[in-house]
Order: sequence, then C-alpha cells, then structure tokens
Amino acid sequence: MAGGELTRFAPSPTGLLHLGHAFSALIAATHGRFHLRIEDIDRDRCRPEFETAIFEDLAWLGLDWPRPVMRQSDRLPAYQQALDRLAALTYPCRCRRADIRAALSAPQEGALPAGPDGLIYPGTCRHRGHDQAGPDDVIRLDAARAFAALGLDRIAFRDQATQPDRDHALTATEFTATIGDVILSRRGMGTSYHLAVVIDDAAQGITLVTRGRDLLQATFIHILLQRLLDLPTPRYLHHRLIRDDAGKRLAKRDDARALRHYREAGATPDDIRRMIGL
Ligand code: GLU
Repeated sequence: MAGGELTRFAPSPTGLLHLGHAFSALIAATHGRFHLRIEDIDRDRCRPEFETAIFEDLAWLGLDWPRPVMRQSDRLPAYQQALDRLAALTYPCRCRRADIRAALSAPQEGALPAGPDGLIYPGTCRHRGHDQAGPDDVIRLDAARAFAALGLDRIAFRDQATQPDRDHALTATEFTATIGDVILSRRGMGTSYHLAVVIDDAAQGITLVTRGRDLLQATFIHILLQRLLDLPTPRYLHHRLIRDDAGKRLAKRDDARALRHYREAGATPDDIRRMIGL
C-alpha cells in the first residue's frame, strides 16, 4: 500500500496492550512509517508501568518507531494555545452527568441516543461566558456556532479502508443532533482526547490516521476542529475491530487477551499475527 504515508499508533497507558492494539499498531506499520504517541492526558488513569509495557510489547511484535516519542502530557501549552484561539466558539460548562441526565429527563443513560462521548449535551450552559468560568468547569465547543463561523453546512470524508460504505458525511444539523457540543477541555486535564489528537496529528505531520471503526464518528469532530484551527486534514482509515469469542470488542480490562499473557504462555509474534488474521 501507500508506503510514503506517515501514520501513528496512539495508545493510552491505562492498561496492557491486547490483541486489538496489536492489530491497530500493525495496520499503522504496514501503511507507512509510523509514529508512536503516548496519549497520557488522563493522569488519574495512566501508569508509568503501562507505558513501559507498551514499548516492550511493540518491540516484541517486531515494530520500531522514531524517538523521542511524543507524550501528550508534555504538550499542554499547545493545547492551551488552541483553546485560547477557539475561545469565541466555546463556553465553560459546570454540568455533571446527573445534571445532564436530569436536563434530558432521562432516568437512565441507556434510554437516550448517545454520541461518541455519551449523552448529547442539552446546552444548559451554552449562554455562559468565559468570565463566568469556575475552576471545575469543562470547556465545550458550541457546535452550531462553529459551523456558522466556518460557513460550513456539512463535513464529509472518504475512508481509505476497503469497506463498501467508504463515503461518510454529516450535515451541521446532524452533527448538533448526534454529536453535539463536545468537550475540548476536561476537568483537571487542560485538554480532551479530541483536541489533543487533532493538534498532535498535525504537529507530527501525520498523513494517514489509522484507527478502529469505533472512532469513525469522532472523525467528524476532528475534521471540524482542523477547519477551525486551520490545520490540514489527513486521510483516514478506520479498520475492523478485533472481538472476543462472544463477539464483544476487546477492552483494556480484558487482561486475558493481553499480548503479555500470550507471550508468557509461549506465543510468538507470528502466532499473534495469525490470531488477528494478518
Ligand atoms: N488514545 C486513543 C485510544 O487509545 C487513540 C485513538 C486514536 O487513534 O485516535 O483509543
């Protein structure tokens, strides 16, 4: 495939890498030169021993990557700069999950449609200005205002994967209804996954983002942020997900599928490739 691409594998050190991560990393490596990026903005959940394990497990798989490795915890000034730049399109929000549920009058989370970040925010704090921000507030993007500021009525992209449904589009109205006002800065983090990923993919000059299909909806958010911040939009390839025998997507807590445990049980990197169909 396109060997000239610059791709990345961007795990969070919140657990051991499992078969799904191995698949993602190997896909990134087969599509070009890949950067490893440590997504460690969630200081409460990240652990240095998991970061060490990431390096060891990837090296054991036979992968190599340029050093030094970018760590998001070193990048807070870059995120703050972007937040300042977007200030006119964002607002501080003090709603907790229970407030959001109450505003949506939903007794349980599952009862309502959810976007990539959970419940669609009902906009309770949308009128608040930054001068009213409290220390525990999050910062949200006013999605409708963002589309209006760009004079944009839809976002579209073509997936580089070979699925039959390769073309994806969302109108501004669909975006506000199915994704909503996403968080750009989480409590105590100074950024969010969406903001950090967009800034770092641009800073590293990533030309092809390879990641799981579970993040397909998030791509609309990322393209919107790229437009707002005048950053280039890379190509996207959303790959299939590795599932367990019951068909469930693997999660970090599924320790049984950790690469490390297969290795300790005597598996070779070739066995891993076979297990994930590569
Ligand atoms: N840190 C994210 C994860 O572990 C990366 C997602 C992405 O590739 O954009 O899922």
